[in-house]
Amino acid sequence: MAKLPVRKFPDPVLREKCGPVETFDSELFQLLDDMAETMYAENGIGLAAPQVGVSQQITVIDVGEENPNLLEFINPQIVARDGNTPSEEGCLSIPEYRDTIKRSERVTVRALDRTGSTFEVEADDLFAICLQHEIDHLNGVLFIDHLSPLKRALFKKWLKKRGPYEE
Ligand code: ZN
Repeated sequence: MAKLPVRKFPDPVLREKCGPVETFDSELFQLLDDMAETMYAENGIGLAAPQVGVSQQITVIDVGEENPNLLEFINPQIVARDGNTPSEEGCLSIPEYRDTIKRSERVTVRALDRTGSTFEVEADDLFAICLQHEIDHLNGVLFIDHLSPLKRALFKKWLKKRGPYEE
């Protein structure tokens, strides 16, 4: 396994709409393992493939509330959602910045596992929020895109003051 460099805002790969995974081979397994290692090394609870420069619909998540539990989602789709909840978020691709946005409270996600089999999860709390954040990444959407225009302007000001992220 290897820890991969995490792409930082405004790397254009973070804005690409990811393509679906079609081949379930050792290359995919390697990527999944490397993504998990990268997520743990960065103390993240989720990581999406574009964050390591791969424009494919893959995310790994471990919200580890009770037991550390690594989950892999390939070609995930939110098939149901309900409720509304404020969510204070950060992102490994936008280090040091946190802000509160709105998310659905509960989501149902359908995805494939690494063998290509379909599974479905119903998630709430942090798990639901993390799934929404990571699946956004696969569509080229970042959590700052959910900020109000005013807060978005404040973020830009903050980033200008901070200076660009280094690789
Ligand atoms: Zn993120």
